[in-house]
Amino acid sequence: MHEEKHKYLIDLEKALGARLVGVTRDLASTHSADSAEQVTERENEDVLRNLQEETRLELKQVRSAIKRIEAGEYGICSNCGAEISAGRLAALPYATLCISCAE
Ligand SMILES: [Zn+2]
Repeated sequence: MHEEKHKYLIDLEKALGARLVGVTRDLASTHSADSAEQVTERENEDVLRNLQEETRLELKQVRSAIKRIEAGEYGICSNCGAEISAGRLAALPYATLCISCAE
């Protein structure tokens, strides 16, 4: 089975969850009344919002990879059913497509 990968993904899920909480908190606190600072703050907010979106997406992929490991479907291409290569899984642990389907 994929015990090491499972452990890695669980750790990654925790780290991403913590990051999401941090980013969400930062977003909630980026409101100052000073108009000179507001432009910079808006830029920061955009960066934070992008980061929040990316983190959410990655978290979703990580969670679904954990589910696939638990269901014994991990490492199988969801499009053609071929085995996803170990090298690809090492680079992208939550890949759902083999390299030829991903291209
Ligand atoms: Zn495939």
